[in-house]
Amino acid sequence: MTDFVITPPKQAAIPVKGTKTFFPVRRIWCVGRNYVEHIREMGQDERKPPFFFAKPADAIVADGGVVPYPSLTNDLHHEVEMVVALKAGGIRIKPEAALDLIWGYGVGIDLTRRDLQIASRKQERPWEIGKAFDGSAPCSDLVPASQIGHPNRGRIYLKVNGEVKQDGDLEQMIWNVPETISKLSEMVALEAGDIIMTGTPAGVSALKAGDVLECECAGVGTLKVTIGKAL
Ligand code: MN
Repeated sequence: MTDFVITPPKQAAIPVKGTKTFFPVRRIWCVGRNYVEHIREMGQDERKPPFFFAKPADAIVADGGVVPYPSLTNDLHHEVEMVVALKAGGIRIKPEAALDLIWGYGVGIDLTRRDLQIASRKQERPWEIGKAFDGSAPCSDLVPASQIGHPNRGRIYLKVNGEVKQDGDLEQMIWNVPETISKLSEMVALEAGDIIMTGTPAGVSALKAGDVLECECAGVGTLKVTIGKAL
């Protein structure tokens, strides 16, 4: 047994739907700019390839959770995204080999301190403060691909206080899931436990304390979280 000098941090994990089991999270990778309409609403160049950023594994918030309104921002945005959970990894994975590495799927929200993200972008600084804060990755229970297959079309939407804000379809992704895994594996060695948030459709908007977010990725899952008071 390893002698750690402090108690090791708790393993981040996501419940598996309908079971008492959990998927252990190693890293959270996110795809930027993967739906044309969202690129347009952000005023970015839709011809550029997508890029990746990361969140810490412990940014996960389970279904039914409360995310305290984060510090330093006045412009907290929701981005609903399909989540892909890997059971194996590799480097320079070919798109045709990528689906075999997927354990399952969920739906998540890439919460974003938009004002801080844009300020970082303007100063050519890293995005962590805008993207990788505590509670920034709410995620539904996961379902195994062995049950649902590999979804590549279907409605993905998000409601705030019952009003639909984002409404897209997985088939609108610019880079599909196998291409995304392949591309990311050129940059880092992927491993079991890595999850990927696959980009958001248009309709992102600002949140406030008390807002209830409900989202669904058809055939994959649903997620409900509440924005709480600032800590
Ligand atoms: Mn996103």
